[in-house]
Parts: sequence; structure tokens; C-alpha cells
Amino acid sequence: MKIAVIGTGYVGLVSGVCFSDFGHDVVCVDKDPAKIDMLGRGEVPIYEPGLDTLMEKNVEADRLKFTTDLASAVDGAEAIFIAVGTPARRGDGHADLSFVMAAAEEIAGIAKNYVVIVTKSTVPVGTNRQVKQVVKKANPDLDFDVASNPEFLREGAAIDDFMKPDRVVVGVQSDRAAEVMADIYRPLYLRDFPIITTDLESAEMIKYAANAFLATKITFINEIAALCERTGADVKQVSHGVGLDGRIGNKFLHAGPGYGGSCFPKDTKALARIGQEYGSPMQITETVISVNEEIKRRMIDKLRDLCDGSFNGKVIGILGVTFKPNTDDMRDAPSLTIVPALVGGGAKVRVTDPQGRHEGEALLPGVSWFDDPYKCANNADLLVILTEWNEFRALDLKRIARKMNSPRMADLRNIYAPKDAKRAGFDAYDSIGREGFL
Ligand code: NAD
Repeated sequence: MKIAVIGTGYVGLVSGVCFSDFGHDVVCVDKDPAKIDMLGRGEVPIYEPGLDTLMEKNVEADRLKFTTDLASAVDGAEAIFIAVGTPARRGDGHADLSFVMAAAEEIAGIAKNYVVIVTKSTVPVGTNRQVKQVVKKANPDLDFDVASNPEFLREGAAIDDFMKPDRVVVGVQSDRAAEVMADIYRPLYLRDFPIITTDLESAEMIKYAANAFLATKITFINEIAALCERTGADVKQVSHGVGLDGRIGNKFLHAGPGYGGSCFPKDTKALARIGQEYGSPMQITETVISVNEEIKRRMIDKLRDLCDGSFNGKVIGILGVTFKPNTDDMRDAPSLTIVPALVGGGAKVRVTDPQGRHEGEALLPGVSWFDDPYKCANNADLLVILTEWNEFRALDLKRIARKMNSPRMADLRNIYAPKDAKRAGFDAYDSIGREGFL
């Protein structure tokens, strides 16, 4: 089957590459010529483990192409996936649908034969019906269906998530569209991964409900962590004990500096906004959003305490700025709140991240970049672990402590134990939801 994918970002590119690996004939389109040029040269514009090899394999097999020309991509395609961004609109938090609607109009202007227009982007309930109207208005004679196919992949594990999903959700209005979607995902279906078919609205809602639930789970354990700090409990032991309950599960129960990334912040805001619009407030989600902001602010207080009350003149080393490991994505990362507060408070901030520099340089002005954690810690008064990259999980803490001006650590991912830090010669150590020492 020929498939077109519009948007070659984290979702579009991974989807296009994986669909081609299923054996489909895929053309990926982006309006950004620089991205398409890179892809044409065999270079991957984002950091996603394993994507380069899988892309190369399918380009060589002549099943995967890249272009800026939508017309050539749409020609003969049975399905066109819209995988463009839906960022939070400034001010009201509503998902900005302008990229989705622009793509829908462009498709309407070009498509000639029956096609399924599939929205893979995360979009509010009702958007697929809107897409249908936009296309119908622009091209009343076109024979087409719309389908909602939200994506659940996680950056950093995107290929595995796409190839071995917990489920594939497909929202449709016609059997014909359901058949096209079943053909596309047949390789997964044959391997027993569940594909659930719903109406359009339910598919759209599943995505927001899932992300809001996960954001709630993270925020819940972060709030428990704050209480652990006051009561002397240890959140790692608490998470372990709670997570073993099969009804709860141990995933997303790791306390940290607050959720960030390209999805949870904007999707929780969009869900809250949908609730307001429909007169059915999402009170839990609204609270999660404000508690998460509070958690990020609390991290700054923690760091200030470790700096004896002021950042002014302190040298602070930051390990990790991306919102999680194994990605170069900086969107809404906790570092974007925490680092500017340090710089603004007069600290000299030194930063290292295995993949974050390319994006991070423009987003974090006034910091100096280093290519390894030991250099980053040199002469520092405080070392902060912000992202739990593998590269930071087995540091020689003694060596780090020796290099620092005053060996103090804020381990905001609970990678190390307080006793490890003490044994290595740290004077002070704090983490999340556990007792530290100063
Ligand atoms: P992204 O910003 O990385 O990529 C979007 C791409 O679309 C960009 O390359 C942009 O140039 C391109 N684009 C925009 N308008 C276009 C047009 N008219 N024609 C051609 N190209 C166009 O976005 P992303 O992170 O891949 O997210 C895409 C969607 O998937 C969002 O709705 C997001 O919420 C959802 N999603 C993202 C993730 C994730 O982990 N990133 C996971 C699940 C779902």
C-alpha cells in the first residue's frame, strides 16, 4: 500500500520509517526543506535510538522516500497521515490546530482518488469532524474518509513502542476506512498486538485521557515525595511498595523534578481547556497542572538551600537538560524553568548533556557547555542531576567530589543513595522524597 506521512518530526518520521518497515511504500513530506535535505542525505534530524539504521534499511529497499512536494506524495496514496505539531496555543492552552487544518486543506487541493485522511497528531475531541468539513468544503467532489489514529510512542523508545505497541487505536466512521487502517496495521495484528476500533470522538479522547492519567500518576508520586521529606519516609521504598499492587503498577511512579516534554504539559492543558469548553471541568487535571508547576518551583528552593540561601556567585554544574534520557527534545523540559532561575540568581552555570546541546544552546542563554560530567563539575559549588541519562548513572563520585570547589549534590532523579554521596566525600546531598544531609 502507498502511504503519505505529513510531518517528519518525532512522530511522523518514526511512523513513516516503521510503516515502510512493515512493507508499505511510504513517502514522508515536510515543509521544512532543511529537514528533507538532511533526510535525503540519509541523516536523521532528531536523536532517536535505532532510527538511523531502520531508515537506511528501508531507503535502500526503495520503500521510503522524502520530499517537500505534497502532490507527489499524495499521488496514488490510499492513506495520508497528518503528523504535524499541535502545540499549546499561547494564553488559553487550547491545542493549536492551525498546522493540522493547513495540512487538511493542502490535501484537499491535491487528492483525486479515494483516500483515508488519518490524524495521527494529538487533537481535541471533534477535530477529525472539523478536518472532514475543511476537506469537503475545499474539494466537494473528493471521495474520502477521515480516521483518528493517535500515537502513544515514547521518545527514546519510539521504534519499539511503534513496533510493539500496547494497543493501536483507530477511530473511524466507515467500514471502508476501517479496512484500509486494518491493512496498514496488519503486520502488528498478525503478531497479536491489539488494535481497537472506535468512533472518532472516543479515539481522540483516549489519547488525552491516557496522557492526563500518566501525568496525574507522576504528579501524585511527586506530591507524596514532598510529604515523605517532611515525615522521614523514603519515596523510593514507598513507590516500590505501592507499585507492587497490580491494580496500581510500578510504571510512572518515580519521583522527580516535575513532568515536562513535548506531550504531557500541552496535552493536560488542552484537556483542561476541552473540559471548560464543554462545561465539564477536568478538576483533577487542572490541579495536576498547578501542582506540577509548584513541584518545579520547589526544586529551585531545594537548590537554593544547597547554596546557603543564594545562587549569587555560585558555580553550578547541571547534568542533563533534555526532558528525559535518550532524546534531544527540550520542549517544556524542567531544565527550562530551573536553569534560568539559577542564571537569573547570579550563578555561573555549567551544563552537560549527551544530546541536548544542539537544541539547548538557544534555549538556555548564559550557560557554558561541556562535553563530559567531570569537566562540568570542575570547581563547582553544586552539582545537579536533572536528567537520568545512563552516562550519569555510574559516575566516579569520588573523582567528582575532588574536582568540586564544595562537593554538594542535588540528585533530582534519585539515582544515587545518600550514603554513596557521603562515602564519596560530598558535604551535602539532597534528592527527592528522601532524607539528605547538609
Ligand atoms: P514535531 O514538531 O517534532 O514535528 C512536526 C513536523 O511537522 C515538523 O517537522 C514540521 O515542519 C512539520 N509540518 C508542519 N506543518 C506541515 C505541513 N503543512 N506540511 C508538511 N510538514 C509540516 O512534532 P512531533 O513531536 O512529531 O508531534 C506531532 C504530533 O504527535 C503532535 O500532535 C504531538 O502531540 C503528537 N505526539 C507526539 C509524541 C512525541 O513523543 N513527540 C508522542 C505521541 C504523540
